[in-house]
Amino acid sequence: MLLGGCASVVRPRHQKNDYEQMMKRAEKNGWVFERKAKKFQGRCPAGRCLVTIPLTPSSQRTLANRQSDIDRCPH
Ligand SMILES: [Zn+2]
Repeated sequence: MLLGGCASVVRPRHQKNDYEQMMKRAEKNGWVFERKAKKFQGRCPAGRCLVTIPLTPSSQRTLANRQSDIDRCPH
């Protein structure tokens, strides 16, 4: 598998639209999401806050929890 620098790679979409929209909003605020094996990993603009977004979330609460993690970022 070839992994180059992450900046020029287009992020694959999340299969769940709710999560895709959440990541899009965060990206507008400077977050960067990287696709990993079973999840997306998000990093805030300062690179200090990390969120992990599962590809197959177990419950609807996961969405709200990840959203509040993102909102809590002070950067
Ligand atoms: Zn942050």
